[in-house]
Amino acid sequence: MAKELYDIAEQPPLGVIPAKMHAWLIRPERFGTPLEAFRQEVVNVPPLAADEVLVYVMAAGINYNNVWAGLGIPVNVIAARNKAGEPEDFHIGGSDASGIVYKVGKDVTSLKVGDEVVIHCGQYSRDCPWVQSGGDPMYSPTFRIWGYETNWGSFAQFTKVQAQQCMPKPRHLTWEAAAAYTLVAATAWRMLHGWGANAIKKGDVALIWGGAGGLGSMAIQIAKAAGATSIAMVSGEDKFDYCLKLGAKGCINRNDFDHWGMLPHWKDKVGYAKWLKGVRAFGAKIWEVLGEKRAPNLVFEHPGETTIPTSIFVCDTGGMVVVCAGTTGYNATVDLRYLWMRQKRLQGSHFANTEQSNQMNELALRGLLDPCLSRAFTYDEIPLAHQLMYENKHPHGNMAVLVGATDFGRGAHGQPPVAIPHPTLPKGDVHTTPHPYPMSEPLPGIAEAEAITIADDGTQVRDLMHRGIIACAPGDTVGQVAKLMVDHEIHAVVVMDGGRAVGVVSQTDLVLARQGRTPAQARALLAKDIMTPGCATCDIGMLLSEAVSLMTGRRMHRLVVTDHDQPVGVLSMTDVVRKLIGE
Ligand code: NAP
Repeated sequence: MAKELYDIAEQPPLGVIPAKMHAWLIRPERFGTPLEAFRQEVVNVPPLAADEVLVYVMAAGINYNNVWAGLGIPVNVIAARNKAGEPEDFHIGGSDASGIVYKVGKDVTSLKVGDEVVIHCGQYSRDCPWVQSGGDPMYSPTFRIWGYETNWGSFAQFTKVQAQQCMPKPRHLTWEAAAAYTLVAATAWRMLHGWGANAIKKGDVALIWGGAGGLGSMAIQIAKAAGATSIAMVSGEDKFDYCLKLGAKGCINRNDFDHWGMLPHWKDKVGYAKWLKGVRAFGAKIWEVLGEKRAPNLVFEHPGETTIPTSIFVCDTGGMVVVCAGTTGYNATVDLRYLWMRQKRLQGSHFANTEQSNQMNELALRGLLDPCLSRAFTYDEIPLAHQLMYENKHPHGNMAVLVGATDFGRGAHGQPPVAIPHPTLPKGDVHTTPHPYPMSEPLPGIAEAEAITIADDGTQVRDLMHRGIIACAPGDTVGQVAKLMVDHEIHAVVVMDGGRAVGVVSQTDLVLARQGRTPAQARALLAKDIMTPGCATCDIGMLLSEAVSLMTGRRMHRLVVTDHDQPVGVLSMTDVVRKLIGE
C-alpha cells in the first residue's frame, strides 16, 4: 500500500506512486529573489499523458532559467501557461535531472519502471504536423523547455516528462553529476554538430568562449571527441589549467585585450583602425596558441554583443560562428564585408533535439564527457543555489542538488569506460560577469504579436522642435558648414538642394572628415562629399515617443521635421532630454 506522502529521501518502493509529493514551488504572489520566490510545499503527484513517464528524481541540475522564473521576469511563466489553458497556479522548476522511472504512460514502449535515466529538457507535441512530417522538433511551434516553459520540473520528488526526454544514465556517474550536464552539453552538441557542412570534424579548429563556463566546458570536450583542436577563452589565467585538462590545446585571457564591444562605425577611420589593431593582435594570439597560422573555422559564441564582431572577424573563410545566447547584450554588430566576401556563416542555435541529445549522451555513457560538477547542494538548499547564481557568487561549471538521493556520492556503479582526469576549478572561483540575459524568452511572432500599450502624455513633435532650418547647399565647403554650426550653436546642418532636403552634415561627419587630412584639406571638402545622404524626417504632428523611437532605432540624434512634406524645422535629442529631465 502506498503511503499518501513520503519524506524527502525516503524512497517509495519501485513503481509505487504516492498521491502527494514534496516540491519547491514558485507562486506569483512571492515573485522575487530566489530566497523569497521558492517555498517547500506538498502538491498532488501529476497524472500522466499517454506518451509521458513519471520519474522519481534523485538529483536535479541548476540553471539560470529558474532564477528568471522566480523573479517573474521577463515572463510570468505561470500566467503564460494559465493563458494557454493549464490550470496550476504555481511553477515547479528544474530543467535537468537524474532519476528512476516509476510509471510509464500507456503508449510508452521505450522505457520501463526501474530504468535509471537522465532527462533532456526539450518537450514538443508528438501531434504537431511539422514533427509528424519528420521536421526537426526544435522548429515546432509546440517546442518548450521543460521545467521553465513547462511545469512539473525536477525540483520535486516526482517529475512528469515525455518518454523521448529520457536517456540512459551513465552508470559511472553519481546522481548529482548525472543531473548536471544535459542542458548545457546538448546545447553545445547541437551548436557544434548540428549545422550541416559546418559541423565539427577531425582537424577543425574551434574557438570556445567561456571555456570554464557551463557551455564552454562541454564544448571543449565535444570538440576533443570529434578530433578537433580547441582554444578556450577565459577571463583569467587561473582557469587555463581547467580548460587544458578538459582538452583545450591552449587558452587566451580575454582581459589581455580591450577591443571588445560594438564595432566602431566603418566611417570612423581612427576608431576602426584601432579596433582592427586590437582584433589583429587577438588573431595573432590565436596563431601563437595554435602554433600555426590558422584561423578557427568554428567559433562557439554566447557572450554576444561584446564579442561577436571579433568572432566574425577571426572566423576562417567559409567557417561558422554559432551562437546560442547574448549574455552581454543582443545587438550584435557585424562588418558585413567579412561575412559576404569571406563567406562566413552566423548561425543561431537553441538547445537540441532528441536525436542530438542522445548523441551527446553517448559521449557521457562512454565516459568521454565530464559533467564538470562544480558544487552540489542538498534539497533544502535549492533556493540558496539559485540565490548564489542570482548574486553571481556561484562557481563556474555546473551545479546540482540532491532530491531523492540520500547523500552525495551515491548512484555510481563501477568505473567509467575511459578514465579521464577530473578537472578542478581554481579555489574560491566565482562568476565575475553580469547576469546572463534570459535563455528563453517568447519572441513575438506575426500571429501572436500583441500591441504593447505604453503610457504617452501626447506630446507631439511640434511642441518641442526648433522651427526654421539652418541649411547649406551641397556645394558649400566644410569650412562654411562648420562656421554655420558654431555661429548657431547647432549640432547638424541640413543640406538643401532645390528646396529638397538631400542630406545632413552632423558634427560627427565633420570630425570624421578631418581624419587623415590637415585642417585646411578638411575645410576645403564640400558638404555633399561628407554629408550623410538622405534625410531622416518626421511629421510635425508625430507623437514625440514615436520620433524618439525613430532616432534610437537609427542611432541618430536628430530628425528633420516636415509639414506637408516641406522641411520646417529640426527635432534633436537635446530637445528631448530637456523635456524629459526638465528645463
Ligand atoms: P556560464 O557558466 O555563466 O558561463 C558563461 C561564461 O561566459 C562565463 O564563464 C564567462 O567566462 C564568459 N563571459 C562572461 N562575460 C563575458 C564577456 N563579456 N566576454 C566574454 N566572455 C564572457 O553560462 P553558460 O551556462 O555557459 O551559458 C552561457 C549563456 O548561454 C547564458 O546566457 C545562458 O543563458 C545561455 N544558454 C543558452 C542555451 C540555449 O539553448 N540557447 C542553453 C544553455 C545556456 P570568463 O569570465 O572566464 O570569460
